[in-house]
Amino acid sequence: MNTKELEQALHALSYPGLTRTLGELKLISEVKVKENHAKIELSTVSDDSYLTVKNAIAERFGDTFASLDITKKNLAPKDTHYGNSAAPNNRAPYAKNVIAVTSGKGGVGKSTVSVNLAIALAQKGYRVGILDADVYGPNVPRLTNTDLEKIKWNDDNKIVPSENYGIKIMSVALTTPTSDTPLVWRSSVAVSALIQFLEDVAWGELDFMVIDMPPGTGDIQLTMAQELPITAGVIVTTPQLVASDDVSRAIRMFQDIHVPMAGLVENMSYFIAPDTQNRYDIFGTGGGERLAARYNIPLLGQIPIDMEIREGSDNGEPPVALGSETQKSYYKSIVENMLSAIKFRL
Ligand code: ADP
Repeated sequence: MNTKELEQALHALSYPGLTRTLGELKLISEVKVKENHAKIELSTVSDDSYLTVKNAIAERFGDTFASLDITKKNLAPKDTHYGNSAAPNNRAPYAKNVIAVTSGKGGVGKSTVSVNLAIALAQKGYRVGILDADVYGPNVPRLTNTDLEKIKWNDDNKIVPSENYGIKIMSVALTTPTSDTPLVWRSSVAVSALIQFLEDVAWGELDFMVIDMPPGTGDIQLTMAQELPITAGVIVTTPQLVASDDVSRAIRMFQDIHVPMAGLVENMSYFIAPDTQNRYDIFGTGGGERLAARYNIPLLGQIPIDMEIREGSDNGEPPVALGSETQKSYYKSIVENMLSAIKFRL
């Protein structure tokens, strides 16, 4: 096999778990074959996708060459090729607006914010669905008290979403990739499951589809941005992490893939003592404002760390539906700020 032939074969190779080829996804940056030794450079964005593609190539061409050297191109942030996210497909034409909620790291309360924002939108009279795409911690079923439900199909062979608190709910948890499944495998399986959830779920007409993204910057964010016109992204962070590279990377990725940012939510921002109602700024103040200013995006709101929010959420009783008026107000005002920050259609 010479350089040209290998190049063609690589371009035609499917990305594991996707119907798109490495050529279509523009993941091959250089190919060279010399005396039965092949050198391949990949322009994958994340380490996850690099390993996925590298393994797929090694499996297919490992026996063809005496040696196979597969490296990852060092991409400057601005240089990164994010597929076709500037002109995405639309796998969800039934949804008028798509809101992607993301974070730099796990455990910051992204799923809690996603669920409560979705419910707050429904409380305003909008038709809302939430798609739990967080393959690393699919918590939406537990947060909405739908975790005992199983996949159901209707007569048209479409999956029927769960429903609670006025929103429709679909989660990657229902495909049961277990938490000990290797991440690389999980993310490619999840990508195909998510595409199916966009196309084969009986969502009906939606004014807003809220997507609870996995934390970080990987295949799933990219695929969603390529397969859906995302109306706006919401970034959730905690004050300890506002200055971290993970958060900046998440914001920059959304900017690079042309997803407009609705703004930033600072969760677990401060503490109100339940007995005295005194406010304690445990992590200092102003971090969220500074981060928002640095990236020129709005600060949509700050939510305190609150034992009742944790207890209610973990029991499937979302604070915006069943909490106190003060708890409801955090999420409702974030939704108001978000709606005034974005261009949405109805
Ligand atoms: P992520 O989606 O970022 O991994 P989760 O939404 O699952 O995070 O939240 C992680 C944990 O933090 C959960 O136990 C949740 O109940 C709790 N939590 C989220 N927001 C708050 C808050 N404002 N106050 C107290 N606990 C919270």
